[in-house]
Amino acid sequence: MSLKYVTGSFQLMKSINRSTILNIIREEGPISRAEIAKRTSLTPPTVSNLVKELITTEFVIETNQGESKGGRKPTYLEINGNRFFVIGIDVGHFHMKFVVTNLFGEVVDRITLPLDPKPDAEQILHTMEEGIHTVIQQGQATAGDYLGIGVGMHGIVDVERGISLYAPSFQTHDIAIRERLEDTFQMMVKVENDAKTMTLGEFWFGNGMEDGNVVGVNIGYGIGAGIINDGTLFQGENFIAGEIGHMTIDLTGPQCSCGNYGCLQAMAAGPAIARLAIKELKSGKTSLLTKMTDGVLDQVTGELVHEAARQGDSFSIDLLTQTGRYIGIGLTNLIHTLNPKRIIIGGGVAKAGDHILEPIRQTIQQRGLTEEARNTTIVPSLLQEDASAIGACGLILNEFFTSKRV
Ligand SMILES: [Zn+2]
Repeated sequence: MSLKYVTGSFQLMKSINRSTILNIIREEGPISRAEIAKRTSLTPPTVSNLVKELITTEFVIETNQGESKGGRKPTYLEINGNRFFVIGIDVGHFHMKFVVTNLFGEVVDRITLPLDPKPDAEQILHTMEEGIHTVIQQGQATAGDYLGIGVGMHGIVDVERGISLYAPSFQTHDIAIRERLEDTFQMMVKVENDAKTMTLGEFWFGNGMEDGNVVGVNIGYGIGAGIINDGTLFQGENFIAGEIGHMTIDLTGPQCSCGNYGCLQAMAAGPAIARLAIKELKSGKTSLLTKMTDGVLDQVTGELVHEAARQGDSFSIDLLTQTGRYIGIGLTNLIHTLNPKRIIIGGGVAKAGDHILEPIRQTIQQRGLTEEARNTTIVPSLLQEDASAIGACGLILNEFFTSKRV
């Protein structure tokens, strides 16, 4: 299979003026050349020249669909949304999800591949290659139509070098994902922490679109956060920013996978919900869960607790309320540290909806320092299970569209 990297297009977009124009067309199109010149400090001839290049490279097309103010209908510009595509990968704990999106972040193709429990580095990389080959082969687009590959991976990621430094649940270190995938596919590759890609997905295409200061919290097998400050993902000095799953909530709490005790993740992530449910049921509490598992209590999972809560099981409802309180305490700490406009909750645990969200909101209401802190908006993820994979596509789109105004 011959794969050709769209080097020319990428080099073109490296110009900040071109990508600024491209972003204005994305956000506000259909839009006229005159309006673009008005929105930037660029002269009309400069705008015309840059637009001409964007049309030549097929990123932008002309349309007559804009509003006419009488007289000759002006020509408007819009993104040629289905001309190029991006591949996004969400590396889960048991599955790897691959999506293909167009330039609007709309999913046009997807597959999910299983992942061995505790895979080694080579198995992880091999599954990535297999999935990418599959989506390229089954898609309508040719290899040259893909702008790049984005990867969302749990744990600590060196985003500058594209290396998964540490993935705690796989117990893997220093996987050079970018180097390997660039070698195999000759495309641009970007790697980022999965909570950060989830947040980026929501920021670009989901529930965080209008806000510059947003925190996304991914609550599933673990707990992580992505912090968007003034429209940019905050990394910290060593890419550790956002690891709120290891914020201590209870000094006497259960031991976490990191070795410390009472981390938020050890109290409120999916496995923690299951563990607590099993412990309490074994001590004699009654619940629908006993019937749902035919008495094999070790089969209780976080998902099953949600299901029982949905069916009105008061034991499960109470358990999720308690989980929501722990998360609410963690988020109150986060609000006092970062003061975001909005917090978006995603990941598997978030699927419990108001069973979790209401106690989170109540806890923040009780503990917030000021009225503004208490009223910080808490919303569920709009993109839900696709948020991280779509956000991984956003890592590549971010290279082409910039919102920096000239
Ligand atoms: Zn921990």
